[in-house]
Order: sequence, then C-alpha cells, then structure tokens
Amino acid sequence: MATASIKPWIAQKIEDRFGGFRQQANRIDPTLPRKLDQERTVAVIGGGIAGFTAAIELARRGYTVSLFERNTYLGGKLGSWQETIGQGDDAQDVWVDHGFHAFFRHYYNFNRLLDSLDLRKGFIPIDDYMIIEQSGQRLGFKDVDTTPILNMISMAQKGLFSWKDLIFSPAMRKLDPFLRYDPGRTFANFDDTSFEDFDRQAKLPTQLRLAFNTFSRAFFSDADRMSLAELIKSFHFYYLGHDHGLLYDYPTGNYQDTILGPMVEHLTQHGASIHTGQGVDTIERDEDGFRVHGQRFDRVVLATDVVGTRAILSNCPWIHEHPAWADRITRLRPAQRYAVWRVWMDRDMGHGLPHFISTERFNALDSVTFYHHYEKDCRDWAQKSGGGIYELHSYALPDHLVEPEAIRQALLADLVQ
Ligand SMILES: Cc1cc2nc3c(=O)[nH]c(=O)nc-3n(C[C@H](O)[C@H](O)[C@H](O)COP(=O)(O)OP(=O)(O)OC[C@H]3O[C@@H](n4cnc5c(N)ncnc54)[C@H](O)[C@@H]3O)c2cc1C
Repeated sequence: MATASIKPWIAQKIEDRFGGFRQQANRIDPTLPRKLDQERTVAVIGGGIAGFTAAIELARRGYTVSLFERNTYLGGKLGSWQETIGQGDDAQDVWVDHGFHAFFRHYYNFNRLLDSLDLRKGFIPIDDYMIIEQSGQRLGFKDVDTTPILNMISMAQKGLFSWKDLIFSPAMRKLDPFLRYDPGRTFANFDDTSFEDFDRQAKLPTQLRLAFNTFSRAFFSDADRMSLAELIKSFHFYYLGHDHGLLYDYPTGNYQDTILGPMVEHLTQHGASIHTGQGVDTIERDEDGFRVHGQRFDRVVLATDVVGTRAILSNCPWIHEHPAWADRITRLRPAQRYAVWRVWMDRDMGHGLPHFISTERFNALDSVTFYHHYEKDCRDWAQKSGGGIYELHSYALPDHLVEPEAIRQALLADLVQ
C-alpha cells in the first residue's frame, strides 16, 4: 500500500529531475517566417518516410516539391505494393507491406506528423512486448514500469537480472556507462567496442544478454557488429529516455491505405509532384542552383538510404568542396542484410500471443507477426480459408544464408521449432 502511494511521487520527482524527459535538440528562431514569401523549388530524393516527412513539411511552408523515388512503389522500408497470390480461379491481388512496424509513442515528431493528417485514429496498441526464448519461455514487458529508473527496477522484478548477482558480478561496474548516455563521450569511448566484446568482459546475466541481443538485432546488427555506443544510445532512446514504456501502436490496414495514400493525397493537394521509378544518379550544381534529371531546383533534400546516398554523392564532383561532409558520408556503412517473408498457411496459430513477437533465434528468425489476427484483409482471408498469414523477419541474416530458398528454409525451420 505504502509503495503504491509513494510511487507516483517518486515518478514525479524523476520526471522533474529530467525536465519531463524532453530536451530540445534544435533551437528554433521564432522571428523567422513559417512560410516562404517567394517561389522556391525543392527536389526531395528518396520516397521513404524521411523523404515524405521532408516533402510534407516543405510543401506546407510554400515550397514547390518534386519527390523522386527509385522504386516503383513509395514508402521505402515502410512501403506497400500489390502481389497476386493463388492460381487460376483462386488468384487474388493483395497488398503486402515491406514489413510489420512498431510505432512507438515517443516518436514525437513522426506522431505529430501522423496526427496532423489524422492518421493515428486507425492504430491499435499492442498488448505486450514479448520475446519468446528458445526454451519456449516467454519474456513479457507488459507490466514494466514506464518511468525511467523505476523501469530498471521492473527489469529485475521480471527476472532479467537479480540485484544480488549483479552487485557481485563484473557487470555492475561495466553497466555504469549504460546509465550515463552522453552523445560526445559515449561515442568517443565506446563506438569501437562491439556489444559482444563488452558482454564477454561484463559477463551479463543470461536474460539481460538475451534482451540486449534481441535489441541489437532490431537495429540490423548481430552483437559482434553492434557498436556499444549505438546500443547505449538506443537503450536511452527506447527505454530510459521517456515514460511511455515499450508498448507501441500499429495500423490495422496495409501501409498504402493507412499511411502512404493519405500522405500522397496531401502532397498532391499542396502542388507536389511525385515521380516513382525515377532513381537519381547524380545531382549537378552551379551558381543557379541544382539540377536533378535535367530539372532546376533551388534546394535538394537527400532522403536516401546509406547505399543510395553514397552512390549519388560519388557521382557529384562538387562534394569535394565539402571535405568534412564527404568524409562522413564515405565512412557510413549499411547495416546487415535482412529478410522479410510473408507466408500464407493452411493453419491458424499464435492465439494467446501478441500480434507481433520477438524470438530468440535458432538460425535466422527474429520475429513473427500474426497478420490474420488483426489486419483487415488478412482476417477476411483467414476467416474464409481457415488458414493463417504470418510474416517472418530476420533482422541480421547470417552471412552464409544468401539464396532466397536457403533463407526461407531457415526461417521456416525456426518457426516450426
Ligand atoms: C523489416 C523491417 C522492420 C522494421 N521495423 C521497424 C519498427 O518496428 N519500428 C521502427 O521504428 N523502425 C522499423 N524499421 C526501420 C524503419 O523502417 C526505417 O528506419 C525507416 O523506414 C527508414 O526510413 P527512411 O526514409 O530513412 O529510409 P528508406 O525507407 O530506406 O527510404 C529511402 C528511400 O530512398 C530510395 N532511394 C535510394 N536511392 C535512391 C536513388 N538513387 N534515387 C531515388 N531514390 C532512391 C529508396 O528506394 C527508398 O525508398 C524496420 C525496417 C525493416 C526493414
């Protein structure tokens, strides 16, 4: 009773101490106009969610926007396109997404964008953040306290570590940097150390290691390739830096209908033009501005992935006038390869589980999404057929898995286990 009544008071004190968990990253000059007072054009290169965000913001501020996307579909890693499933009379066109996404509640800027278009009304919350271990045991984060620091105590209560073991293990001293994220210092000290090396020295408790390994792969990196600094940063961003907890929301329809279609409509209403299937190889620059596909622009936004950005800039001789920037781009590396496989099966599994689960992988499988339990079209299909639709993700494919068939076999074998 006493603990229950004192908890909100402690939570409030913690929140006060950390300034409501929000730190302003950019100082905005309120005297500057929000809208342009002269005509300006901008090319946004890359039609993923970063490109859409830039395009919408700039179009709202009066820019004439042209969005260039290499793929024939929009959305990048949040993309959606149509596929035909079944054969003969059973053939049917269905929308598939690039992969299930969790929309966390502390994505303040992105959520503000979605709210400005009234898009989050169709989202539902996941009922648990769950990892299924190889043994079949389930590790759920549902009831973990949402207040930072108190959520660390909850982790102990969930069995992720025991205070007794931790206090007497090398991990205690080693874990200190995890609790003190500082952009400069953390990267200077830990960017050259992998999480695996750190774990070898710190001898983390088994459950805590499992949670961090899963977490590491969610960023497309196995533990031996994950920068410890990145992991610490992400731990603060996702766990210690806000009071929304690990639960998240997601749409109940495909991304085309629920997110991308309305965004395209909004952009078009603001006079933007959208060019799919138009990869950009280079950006020319002269005193008059920039040229993309022969068209002149006042400004260019590069919203491409690492590989795309490096490829475009390697064809731009003017980048050498900006050596520090060129050096940063050259040093960027893509994350590991990933795989997403959506499977239509003759059976319905996964009842009693959240719609999305992480798994302690055997070979390749890192998560399973039970689409037929919540996505509108998939539910309809499952009801008619009695089957189920599953999406299997591998976020960091083992190097030896290259051929699609070998990847599918590995994912399926893990799912069966
Ligand atoms: C399977 C999977 C699951 C994920 N789950 C989550 C999740 O649960 N929660 C979460 O927060 N994040 C998740 N992510 C990460 C998230 O999808 C990405 O962080 C985000 O979508 C990146 O958006 P972006 O616009 O920066 O890049 P991208 O989506 O990669 O978009 C870049 C775009 O640039 C285009 N492009 C590249 N080169 C060129 C060129 N030369 N000319 C024109 N266009 C070009 C590409 O085709 C692409 O469309 C997941 C990612 C994957 C793959």
